[in-house]
Amino acid sequence: MSFLLGLGIGIFLGAFFFYRRHRWARKETKEAFEEIEEALQRLVGGKELNPGLGLGLPFRGRKVANLIRTTHQSLRSLQEESREENARVRAVLEGMVDGLVYLDQEGRLLLANREAIRLLELPAKRWMRGHFEELLRNEESKSLLRRCLKDRRRQDLEMEHHNAVLEMSAVPLEEKGVNRGAILVLRDVTSLRELQTGRRAFVANVSHEFRTPLTAILGYLETVLHDPDMPREERVRILERVFAQAQRLEALVLDLLQLARIESSPESGSQRKIFSPRVLMGFVVEAFRPQALEKSIELSLEDAEAPARILSDEDAVRQILENLVSNAIRYTPEGGRVRLRCKALGEDLCFEVEDTGIGIAPQHLSRIFERFYRTDPARTRFQGGTGLGLAIVKHLSQRLGGRVQVRSEVGEGSTFSLHLPGTVLKDE
Ligand code: ADP
Repeated sequence: MSFLLGLGIGIFLGAFFFYRRHRWARKETKEAFEEIEEALQRLVGGKELNPGLGLGLPFRGRKVANLIRTTHQSLRSLQEESREENARVRAVLEGMVDGLVYLDQEGRLLLANREAIRLLELPAKRWMRGHFEELLRNEESKSLLRRCLKDRRRQDLEMEHHNAVLEMSAVPLEEKGVNRGAILVLRDVTSLRELQTGRRAFVANVSHEFRTPLTAILGYLETVLHDPDMPREERVRILERVFAQAQRLEALVLDLLQLARIESSPESGSQRKIFSPRVLMGFVVEAFRPQALEKSIELSLEDAEAPARILSDEDAVRQILENLVSNAIRYTPEGGRVRLRCKALGEDLCFEVEDTGIGIAPQHLSRIFERFYRTDPARTRFQGGTGLGLAIVKHLSQRLGGRVQVRSEVGEGSTFSLHLPGTVLKDE
């Protein structure tokens, strides 16, 4: 009996413990699955893994958790690498002075740098993956891309766009025979074209300036050659005109050479030295005394406020003053007055050339420093100017780190001033 009771209790306890163990095992497996599932979800979602992942799991569970952790780490370093790669590509694209757009084979914009967004006026947010047919406003650029994507050949175009000149190239991309879309490169060539136009205009101007005296010289010489019996006085009169025209040509060549020299010389202050502006002004006034006397112009010097010494390029300052005084005498009628003065304003120096001449109308004031610009071409050419004097003045004053300005009133006169900052030296 007691044996049977013992067996019964034994069977009951055995069944009870088996049932408990089975339930625990089921519960542990369920929890392990849940932990692994959550870790996988975090992995997929790009989130950080739980630091204690797998610690409470049985051996196999810990192995799976370790695998998840390793996958997570490789994924992280891959992401980091691709982020760095992207940042590098972005930096290169944004650092480019040209605009660049990358399109897929369907014509959708996949990439565009800041310059391209600016030049093509792409809508700030909406351009990504948009089709070029909808995003671009300009018909010429659209047809360029259409042709490139269709013919799979490079297409180039230069077009005017809002007062700017744009150069565009659409290039098809291919990799091992597979169509990879195209890139569009844009360049703002406005200043380059302006430079080229300016250069062409300059060459045309120079040719014109040379042709006029040359034609006159040829005409005069022809007259002399074809009339052997010409009276001596008449011949001398004609030859004097030839001489004057030849002098004009020489002046033109000298001014052109000087302009070229100024433009090609380095901007450094290597030519600077200490000198007295008073002495310099004295030389300039004496040099022009004969010309002034010839026209009964009173040429005077005001140097009471001039500093004793300045540090600058003496030859350049002399050239500027000579050009300004020469103009002042040329454009002042007989009996007028020309004054050259200089004063210090702290460390800055200001020269002024004031005349009581014909003056300059307001519409010309901003242009007289351009090469060959004349307010009255026929009259000033007749007066012997090359049309380059003020262009030389402007370039030289820029080289000196200064600036030149003009105030003028028609019929009253003009005052040209040259400011040279930081040139005045303190008296010892
Ligand atoms: P130019 O050799 O013809 O004098 P510049 O470059 O020296 O050439 O001067 C350009 C133009 O500016 C002149 O043609 C003239 O019309 C005007 N100009 C320059 N200086 C004066 C001045 N002091 N008074 C009136 N007009 C002037």
